Amino acid sequence: MKTIGILTSGGDAPGMNAAIRAVVRTGIFNKMKVMAVKQGYNGLINGDIDEMNLSSVADIIHRGGTIIRTARSEEFMTEKGLKKALNVIDVFGIDGLIILGGDGSFRGAQTLNERGIACVGIPCTIDNDMGYTDYTIGFFTAVETVVDAISKIRDTSASHGRANIIEVMGRRCGDIALYSGMAGGAESIIVPEEELDVDKVCKRLIQGRNRGKLHSIIILAEGVGNAYELSKSIEEKTDIETRVTILGHIQRGGTPTAFDRIVASRMGFKAVELLMEGKSGVAVGIKENKIYSIPLEEALNVEKAFDEKMFDIARVLSI
Ligand code: ATP
Repeated sequence: MKTIGILTSGGDAPGMNAAIRAVVRTGIFNKMKVMAVKQGYNGLINGDIDEMNLSSVADIIHRGGTIIRTARSEEFMTEKGLKKALNVIDVFGIDGLIILGGDGSFRGAQTLNERGIACVGIPCTIDNDMGYTDYTIGFFTAVETVVDAISKIRDTSASHGRANIIEVMGRRCGDIALYSGMAGGAESIIVPEEELDVDKVCKRLIQGRNRGKLHSIIILAEGVGNAYELSKSIEEKTDIETRVTILGHIQRGGTPTAFDRIVASRMGFKAVELLMEGKSGVAVGIKENKIYSIPLEEALNVEKAFDEKMFDIARVLSI
């Protein structure tokens, strides 16, 4: 393996830069050329590729986003686009590719792998929706952002005696809601994995008010009903003034937490090692604090398990 490429694809996630740094430095340490492919799979199609050196990745470990940019590429999903990408890989002499992204990006990696390109995937998405790995890079930073928002909203919520619904990301996976709800002491956590019972949410609010609680925080994963309709319905049923905050893209940015930087560094290092060992079509993951690899095909088929136990604990602690 003489030349490796790296690209970031799909939604960005804090910690991608730390992983890019790890891949570039590990590659150069092992006497390889490391090429950065810009804007996801579009860069492979257009040949938007630059060679990296040690200083290309200086001063980025603490920065959110991705210095090599990301994109969603429709063209890559066509046979014509794929052929262009394969040509570019050949022209640039890229022997192996490391792909940072979520499950869509991993499907792209699998397609390339089926066409004979050695690929390794690193899980980067704030949603933590990939079942084969305990955590994806960016998840804990997003949780920190939400917890910080909860603290601020709690202050104003208490002053006015209001309830607040905070809508967070995680359309198909309630982990951001669950982890931030537990860490922020939310009164109710609403996730796609559990049925929403508005009456139960209201009952908790009324019980809280009756024992003197000045405020209540409800964390709602996006896509589980409409935050404004839920707020209206809570006000009608409880007579408690209820406000909505939709956090949106703020959850995707910011300086990565130490944990995300460490996992990104370990995974980036491992991905290069795997290519050097001649492995291909694999994903890097973390299980019980061990970095490991698994075939992409299998990784994509592991269903994400919702942590029911943690959900129950959060519910008990917020009575
Ligand atoms: P996020 O979790 O942040 O959404 P993602 O990696 O799942 O990240 P997607 O938009 O699903 O994001 O995929 C990113 C890109 O991967 C797509 O724009 C496309 O270029 C490529 N891709 C997705 N699915 C496939 C597929 N089945 N075959 C080939 N390429 C794919």
